[in-house]
Amino acid sequence: MDRRSLLKTGGMAAVGLGLGGCATRTPPAARPSRPMLALAPIRASWDRVIRTTVGLRPHRPSGFMLRLEKLDAKTVVHNYGHGGSGLSLSWGTGALAADLALEAASGDRRAAVLGSGAVGLAATRQLQRRGFDVTIYTMAVPPDTTSNMALGVFSPTSGLVSGRGFTPAWEAQFGRAIEIAYRQLQLLAGSGFGITWMDSYGTMDELPTAQTEARFEREGARLMPARMRASREILYPGEHPFPTRFASRRTSMKIEPSLYLEAMLREAHLFGARTVIRKFDTPRDLMTLDESVIVNCTGLGASELFGDEELMPVKGQLTFLVPQPEVDYGYGCTPRSDGIALGGTQQRGVWTLEPDDEARQRIVTRAIERFAWMRSPAPAVAPSVETFFGEES
Ligand SMILES: Cc1cc2nc3c(=O)[nH]c(=O)nc-3n(C[C@H](O)[C@H](O)[C@H](O)COP(=O)(O)OP(=O)(O)OC[C@H]3O[C@@H](n4cnc5c(N)ncnc54)[C@H](O)[C@@H]3O)c2cc1C
Repeated sequence: MDRRSLLKTGGMAAVGLGLGGCATRTPPAARPSRPMLALAPIRASWDRVIRTTVGLRPHRPSGFMLRLEKLDAKTVVHNYGHGGSGLSLSWGTGALAADLALEAASGDRRAAVLGSGAVGLAATRQLQRRGFDVTIYTMAVPPDTTSNMALGVFSPTSGLVSGRGFTPAWEAQFGRAIEIAYRQLQLLAGSGFGITWMDSYGTMDELPTAQTEARFEREGARLMPARMRASREILYPGEHPFPTRFASRRTSMKIEPSLYLEAMLREAHLFGARTVIRKFDTPRDLMTLDESVIVNCTGLGASELFGDEELMPVKGQLTFLVPQPEVDYGYGCTPRSDGIALGGTQQRGVWTLEPDDEARQRIVTRAIERFAWMRSPAPAVAPSVETFFGEES
């Protein structure tokens, strides 16, 4: 079995937070004895499938774009290209974008924000906190944005593979963005923004070795500040109900996109923002705006609008089961109030929003196998470890 797969245990396990959290930690020889973990069963079956959604992640191989550009009399602050981590990073890049806007604004505290996804809304709030009067110009508002199609886990390094030539300047921006975002999202937890902390489990038959952990470290989480990595706890036989010898547990934040984006939009309006539905076709269109400071949060739309050839879609598909409020943990799935999210496919360069039926079949079938044992106290045959691996989130 592929060791990386062995450790990659479902949606939450694949996210950036904590992948390298115990890279050099060896499991203790003697472990404390803990009571058996009790988990509400997940009821996966075809008749509980309620929808399949597709979104196109705005991916830039060299990382998100955050910089200031002068266009005649206008100052444009670009803030787009967050790939698989827009919900996670938006408060951070929004703060950096707002600081750039503040430096550029010469007394005029009006700002235009282009886009009303997670990135545009967080940028709006950060601008408002700095005293700007914001108008949001956007082609679409929630629930019709890519941000609404996200899985919704704190995954700031998702889609970033280290060694891909990030510049030191970009890495410094990333470090600042992640610090700000991590703190801000924590402050919103439990206050009506759809943000909660959740345990996620992975399963394994063998304990991870330092070698497999180090490989994880290289592949996923080099960019994550060490103190922010959630430590991974190993559960031993007798301590967990999974049909494997060992299980792992991490605690991380979950951001429910529909609740979060509605709350963000409400909050932006509460602090005086107006929303204007408008599509921009070329940068020349921006010259018609009253505001001289413009923060560009158009996500994948920036590829056409500003001709960014590096920007590409990474198609992602999720399938949802009927919500189960009693399920409060992740295990190759993310439980949300609007359904239990399965999957999170990644197809680079694919522009279609059409659901892929083969992927849907594969993801649901795998989930049915994965959760079957939970319905029966003594499963005749435990599913193989391989059937427990979810898609990338
Ligand atoms: C399946 C899937 C799972 C994901 N899971 C996670 C996750 O768990 N955690 C995470 O952090 N991220 C996740 N993501 C990534 C996340 O969804 C994106 O990074 C995020 O949505 C990007 O936000 P955005 O505001 O830049 O873009 P968008 O949400 O696309 O918003 C762009 C806005 O700009 C507007 N716009 C675009 N072009 C124009 C134009 N020409 N004129 C006017 N307006 C325009 C749009 O109407 C829209 O309002 C996932 C994505 C997918 C598809």
